[in-house]
Amino acid sequence: MTITIDTECDHDPAWVRSSPLTFESITEGLPNRLQPAFESVGAVPTYLLTVEVMEDPASVGALRALQGSYEYGTHLHAAFIEPNKKYTDYAGVDSPDFQCSYPPDIEYAKLENLTRLFEHCFGYKPTSFRAGRYGANHHSINSLEKLGYLVDSSVTPFIRWEEPNGQVDFRKAPLQPYFPAPDNIAKPGPARALLQAPVTMKRRWFRMPRWFRPWMSSVEQMQAVAEWHLQTFSDQEVLHLNMMFHSMEVIPCATPYPQNEAEAQRFIDDMVKVLHWCREQGFEFVGLSELRELY
Ligand SMILES: [Zn+2]
Repeated sequence: MTITIDTECDHDPAWVRSSPLTFESITEGLPNRLQPAFESVGAVPTYLLTVEVMEDPASVGALRALQGSYEYGTHLHAAFIEPNKKYTDYAGVDSPDFQCSYPPDIEYAKLENLTRLFEHCFGYKPTSFRAGRYGANHHSINSLEKLGYLVDSSVTPFIRWEEPNGQVDFRKAPLQPYFPAPDNIAKPGPARALLQAPVTMKRRWFRMPRWFRPWMSSVEQMQAVAEWHLQTFSDQEVLHLNMMFHSMEVIPCATPYPQNEAEAQRFIDDMVKVLHWCREQGFEFVGLSELRELY
């Protein structure tokens, strides 16, 4: 089981970046809320870091000082990095761009700059990734592989996402990890260096699928998603669950989700209950990159 967390600046209840830009989810959320919760159940989270977080010295200091077991990877909101960078001040802005809607050479250069920024902050290469707005295609995968990434988690099965500058279609994507085809991110292909680890979902007819995600799903609903995967893929040697959310979701009013301390605490309590339950079912917690070794 992996827990993959898009780790970003604080937003506001309308999902727009905070103004002035704040980073409470990094300086307070990770060390004081999330990491202690994960340590209490022996879970290993993967924090996928955005450009603005790695450009903020206080956030980088907090990330470098974080105690315990975890992995750091990267997360791209493509409007925030060169080439063709759209904003220098991120306060109060939205970033609907799909990275895969840029020409492949521009997208590659953006990913390369993001990767260099990570190396500059932490002194080693990142090997796990998720695209902002899940806006990745086969070009994204090929670029990530060239840059040495081992696992991508941009695919959300059953969902087609649309933004003004493009669309990505994951409706037919596999639900368990696979090696993506060279010309289609949502289709399995021959073994390759990079593994796709989809966000865990369960189909619901005529509605959005059920997410394996605190706040969006209750403890019972998350358990039902896990049980469905356990039954459906019982013949597989390795079965993977991939919980996702954002770092800001544990800070009141920094997303449309928890709006006060009690709600933020409920978010964490629900998450810990599900992690406990998963461990009782026999799941082991791994960082996102470690998953690659199992396939
Ligand atoms: Zn994001």
